[in-house]
Amino acid sequence: MAEETIFSKIIRREIPADVVYQDELVTAFRDIAPKAPTHILIIPNVLIPTANDAQPAHEQALGRMITVAAKIARDEGIAEDGYRLIINCNSHGGQEVYHIHMHLVGGQPLGPMLAS
Ligand code: 5GP
Repeated sequence: MAEETIFSKIIRREIPADVVYQDELVTAFRDIAPKAPTHILIIPNVLIPTANDAQPAHEQALGRMITVAAKIARDEGIAEDGYRLIINCNSHGGQEVYHIHMHLVGGQPLGPMLAS
C-alpha cells in the first residue's frame, strides 16, 4: 500500500490549497512555489506514486489530467501562446512528492526543455 502524501490532504480539502479544478477523477491546484506565472499541478484523486506505477485501470484518470490541463490553459489565457506539461519520475526525474502529478507551466517563454 503506497503511503499518502500531502497531496491526498489537498484532494480531501484537509489543508489549504488554491484549487482551480476538481472532479471525480482529478484535482488541480496552484503550485506553492511557482516557477512561472502559471504553475498548476494536476493530480489523480487516486494515489499513484510515480509514472512507473501507472496501470491500465488508471488510464481514465491519467487521460483526464491532460484534458483538464487543456481546459485550465484556456481559462488561464495561455493556450494560444503555449505552455509545458511535465511529469517528473523518481530521483533522476527530480520527483519530490510521490503522488503522480502533472505540472502545467506557462505564461512566459519557457526556454529549452532541459537545463544542460
Ligand atoms: P516534483 O518535484 O515532485 O515534480 O514537484 C512537486 C511540486 O509540488 C513542487 O513544484 C512543489 O513546489 C509543489 N508542492 C510541494 N508541496 C506542496 C504543497 O503543500 N502545496 C502546493 N500547492 N504545492 C506543493
